[in-house]
Amino acid sequence: MAKSAGAAEAAAAAKSSFDVVDVDVVVVGAGFAGLYMLHRLRGMGFSARVIEAGKGVGGTWYWNRYPGARCDGESLLYSYGFSNALQQEWTWTERYAGQPEILAYANHVADRFDLRRDIQFETRVTAATFDDAGGTWQVETDRGDRLTARYVVMASGCLSMAAAPKLPGAETFTGQTYHTGQWPHDGVDFTGKRVAVIGTGSSGIQAIPRIAAQAKHLTVFQRTAQYTIPAWNGPLDPRTVEEFKARYPEIRTAQKNSFNGNNTTFKHAETFGVTAEERQRIYEEAWQKGGFVFLATFADLLFDKSANDTVAEFVRAKLRSIVEDPQVAELLTPKTIFGCKRLCVDTDYWSTYNRDNVSLVDISSSPIERLVPEGIVVAGKTYPVDAIVFATGFDAVTGALDRIDIRSTSGGRLKAHWQDGPRTYLGLAIHGFPNLFTITGPQSPSVLTNMMPSIEYHVDWISDCLAHLRHTGKRRIQARKEAEDDWVTEVSRLADGTLRPQCNSWYVGANVPGKPRVYLAYVAGIPPYKKRCDEVAGRGYEGFVLA
Ligand code: FAD
Ligand code: NAP
Repeated sequence: MAKSAGAAEAAAAAKSSFDVVDVDVVVVGAGFAGLYMLHRLRGMGFSARVIEAGKGVGGTWYWNRYPGARCDGESLLYSYGFSNALQQEWTWTERYAGQPEILAYANHVADRFDLRRDIQFETRVTAATFDDAGGTWQVETDRGDRLTARYVVMASGCLSMAAAPKLPGAETFTGQTYHTGQWPHDGVDFTGKRVAVIGTGSSGIQAIPRIAAQAKHLTVFQRTAQYTIPAWNGPLDPRTVEEFKARYPEIRTAQKNSFNGNNTTFKHAETFGVTAEERQRIYEEAWQKGGFVFLATFADLLFDKSANDTVAEFVRAKLRSIVEDPQVAELLTPKTIFGCKRLCVDTDYWSTYNRDNVSLVDISSSPIERLVPEGIVVAGKTYPVDAIVFATGFDAVTGALDRIDIRSTSGGRLKAHWQDGPRTYLGLAIHGFPNLFTITGPQSPSVLTNMMPSIEYHVDWISDCLAHLRHTGKRRIQARKEAEDDWVTEVSRLADGTLRPQCNSWYVGANVPGKPRVYLAYVAGIPPYKKRCDEVAGRGYEGFVLA
């Protein structure tokens, strides 16, 4: 829609920054990926501008301020490793840091490395066009900026585009609505309120116990029951922190080479290689440790359905021992493959359903019909509520890229190239779109790993690539079509060899109506992925055309 002259003027007057800019690199997004990318580019002497839609840095941790939001990778590992000084001076206080602490860390990084002066906030990139003749990108924003850059790096996030269902009658609802991924910065007070939460993924599972503790009544609308493992969160022992700090360099190296960036190793190869009693003991030990270690008990859990059934049943039995009402326990019992949807990590989730002020509505067979002024209608029954929290997730991995009109004069539109699902080379580059890089892009390990080492690896790989281009006097790099085709095939083949694509999750785009069903990440883990990317670079960027 065309902006009125008045609105455009007001926007221009309000902004403190540039209109026309010519830089070496435009970076989209100022989350952890964009911040580190900018730091590396500066260090190499490239001029760069970061464009960020939010008012501040931090990305995920800027937007997701819902009650209970925290990381579920351990704080000591869910942090940057690129600067030893940084990791020595910053001290995490909890095993799993809360959103305010992680956001404070992102701000500390921005200040410490003086990053803000090259970041333009409250500005959304709307279009990016590569001009083949000139060999440059033209980047446009919703505030009328035009930036020219040789390279564009998309640090726009895998989980940055909130998704909510379009419910009939939504406009008639007289209460408040919220999305966990776009939470008000001043917080929300649910005291005395009847609240609905729709969605029981990681966000819902974190928010539900906290909202239940405050609201007059909480009604949870659940479409698919989820597996969740206790976090056993708590303050970090100062001795543990000191031990980590003393060994950080070696810990970071191990992280970068571990299967999922969390330094967990599979305890056993085969589920049925041990007795049933031993298996039970191993699961119990993992339960007592809490968190993602469950997926590292047996290496075949996500390959062999009968192996998976053993861990699924262990967790279901835990649920039955926690939830007092057998009917509620039955509704909460996950029936899907364990770990197929992203595993959740919680604090007091299932026990919350023992509270008198919490009720559960199963919408698996009867979806929400509509909203009415006083609440939510399911199967002809109205549930009156004052506020609705959509914990319904994100248009993941491709969502932020799809919302920018990315084109090249020879390659056409990215949307058209991706109409049957994303196509990339290594999750880093796209055929037809020269000089464009994606950090933790589709078809890389990204969302199946601790994102921090994966972000750092991609930023370092891209930085080395730009340095190589400069050193060799090249000004253009593009993925070859055959290399991209082979990578797309390889990523699908690997996913299809596991149980992972078999459930309806955001990993396959199933949560967004009309999104092509494609497994969005590389499933074989960091070591083979990193080996491949290192080899590609080592062979002079094999699979790319450098011109
Ligand atoms: P983001 O943090 O998403 O930042 C992308 C930025 O790009 C955003 O600020 C966005 O506003 C901006 N942007 C997007 N499009 C545009 C545009 N067109 N113009 C301008 N700006 C744009 N990962 C883990 O490894 N461990 C965890 O425990 C963990 N917990 C999570 C908890 C939540 C609630 C969520 C939602 C995700 C979690 N993740 C976790 C994943 C998390 O997204 C990554 O760990 C990491 O923060 C991603 O950083 P990023 O910079 O790549 O992307
Ligand atoms: P999510 O995992 O996609 O969960 C969304 C929930 O909403 C699901 O229960 C889904 O049901 C439900 N839902 C979606 N559309 C619906 C509809 N139309 N009607 C009814 N229910 C609907 O989203 P998320 O919880 O925000 O998490 C997304 C990802 O962010 C996580 O997987 C994780 O990677 C990251 N995250 C991490 C943490 C953490 O602990 N560190 C916290 C939050 C998020 P179905 O299952 O039936 O689709």
